[in-house]
Amino acid sequence: MNLLIMGPPGAGKGTQAILIKNMYNLVHISTGEMFRKAYMDKEPLGILAHEYIKKGELVPDDITLSLVEETLKKVPIKQGFILDGFPRTLNQAVKLDEILERLSLKIDAVLNLVISYESLVERIIGRRICKNCQAVYHITRMKPKVEGICDLCGGELIQRKDDTYEAITRRYEIYNQTSKPILDYYQKKNLVYNINSEDNIEVSFIHVQKLLEGLNDNAKK
Ligand SMILES: [Zn+2]
Repeated sequence: MNLLIMGPPGAGKGTQAILIKNMYNLVHISTGEMFRKAYMDKEPLGILAHEYIKKGELVPDDITLSLVEETLKKVPIKQGFILDGFPRTLNQAVKLDEILERLSLKIDAVLNLVISYESLVERIIGRRICKNCQAVYHITRMKPKVEGICDLCGGELIQRKDDTYEAITRRYEIYNQTSKPILDYYQKKNLVYNINSEDNIEVSFIHVQKLLEGLNDNAKK
């Protein structure tokens, strides 16, 4: 089973991807991780990509696509993968299909995490991060035992600088603009499955599981 996961920043995409990977024994391909690993391993493409990331610039498509292709080649046959944080543009989606065709692979489903703007704001504005160990809390959904203090290490809980209304709104608008053509592209292939992500991580994951069990059953028929 080969999956792609999409959703606005703050919808819990990375968390769902890890839960899905563990449950279905998939290879989790996150572009952020992929860039970091390729850089640490001193791969030429990784070093090149790092030059852009360092400057806060987007990594050009040809570098990203080559790295994705290299990474996909290493996925063991019979084991599926879940792509997280890619494709980010329509061009990348089209090129991804070319890569998959070369490797005789295909995407089985695009999981689209759907969350309202209001819920997203509530989730992000209430988020608190441990200054010391980066553990994540929420002022109503996941309270620490002592207000303002990390349960795990006793560190101070702070709000991220870019967790403001303005920043959330901007990220949400940019996401909607860039994801629309990608979702349209996959919609035409009947691959998009919307996942209700209004509630917490556990509830969203139950929706995901139901969907994937259904897909697996269909694949067996
Ligand atoms: Zn901590």
